[in-house]
Amino acid sequence: MSFVVAIDGPAGTGKGTVTEILSKKLKLINIDTGAMYRCVTLDMLNKNVGLEDIDKIKEILDTIKIDLEDSKKVILNGEDVTSKIRSKEVTTLVSQVSSIKEVRFAMAGLQRKMAENMSVIMEGRDIGTYVFPTADVKIYLDADVEERAKRRYKQNQEKGIDMSYEDILENIKKRDENDKNKEIGALKVAQDAHVIDTTKMTIKQVVKQIEKIIKDKQKQIKLLERIYSIRPETKWKKFVRKLTKGFLSGLYHIGYRIKINGKVPDEGSYIICANHINYLDAAAIVLLNKRMIHFVAKEDLFRFRILNWLAHLFDIIPIKRDMQDMEAMKRCLKTLKSGELLGIFPEGTRKGLEKTGKAKNGAAYMAIKTGTPVIPVGIHGSFKPFTKVYINYGEPINLKEYQGKDKEKIDEATKLIMDKIVMLTKKEN
Ligand code: C5P
Repeated sequence: MSFVVAIDGPAGTGKGTVTEILSKKLKLINIDTGAMYRCVTLDMLNKNVGLEDIDKIKEILDTIKIDLEDSKKVILNGEDVTSKIRSKEVTTLVSQVSSIKEVRFAMAGLQRKMAENMSVIMEGRDIGTYVFPTADVKIYLDADVEERAKRRYKQNQEKGIDMSYEDILENIKKRDENDKNKEIGALKVAQDAHVIDTTKMTIKQVVKQIEKIIKDKQKQIKLLERIYSIRPETKWKKFVRKLTKGFLSGLYHIGYRIKINGKVPDEGSYIICANHINYLDAAAIVLLNKRMIHFVAKEDLFRFRILNWLAHLFDIIPIKRDMQDMEAMKRCLKTLKSGELLGIFPEGTRKGLEKTGKAKNGAAYMAIKTGTPVIPVGIHGSFKPFTKVYINYGEPINLKEYQGKDKEKIDEATKLIMDKIVMLTKKEN
């Protein structure tokens, strides 16, 4: 799987330096896309190809070989051109070369290829907007133009490149203008980019800020992988589940005086719909049932290691709240199709009916879509230690007569399910 960090922004904002440091610190492959456009420009200059000569430019693009060996060396067609591509001639022409449609397509294609199955940090102008619009992290660096020209002047002096401050300022202004108005891959801020103005910042400060953004994102991706990975059913998993279930249900019986009325049929697919008072009620249904119930739970629950472990052990289906989670829906439908039990709290959240006055209609939707009966469950109890907890299973409800994708019908079916659940919560014997 690839991980892409896009660092965009105009010349002199510190992209190159920051990218180099971060690539080493975070073990990301450094791709300087500006160097690639500079290579095309140098090749054109070497071969005396003008900006209008599209056929010759295409020939160059077909045969060009660019290697960004390590973050320092740039090899063009086998030759080390690391310093040549920074010359005044190349710098003056590169922005115009990079505006040529054919050049942009070819370079963007190469850049996408370079990042295939890699973790990269790529700096340029259009990485987060055009080359990788779905990049994992997007940074846009900016700074005042005079400050940028000063930095570039100092950098050039260190590298022995002879260009006056005035020339550099003029060149940067021209390039900015040109880069912002390109037909394809224009320099602009991606909607989801973190914008950092580096005018008054040191490199260290910029690196620190971006490093934190990248690390947070990596953590988030890892967490999502952990939540959404599916652990296959194995003999060992079954054994551990049986043991855990025995232990936890034992604790449950010690902690509460459980009274169960009714039961889930021994075979067949059903959707178990219960009221949701407390985190412990889902556990009561799962642990105190002979059959395996695949409950749906909000993904936040999986963020805690121990709960994540338990959730995977009991094949709980993570669901993203406040959005249509198609992945969760698919897993629910698959569970029902394979003749198993699915558990849902139609209230969506604890004491959902009290909070929002409306139940979610996902359970009714799936019951109607798959023709699966719903078993309403009313849970009653304060869940204070050693008090009574009633778990009342109702008769299966068949929703065949609600068939058809009419939203009103699904709402009606949801209301029916909730009414039955509420009735069952009142049963105390
Ligand atoms: O970053 P650097 O100054 O080396 O880039 C040279 C030129 O290449 C830029 O001024 C810009 O015109 C062009 N470029 C681009 N798209 C990129 C990277 C650079 O158009 N992704």
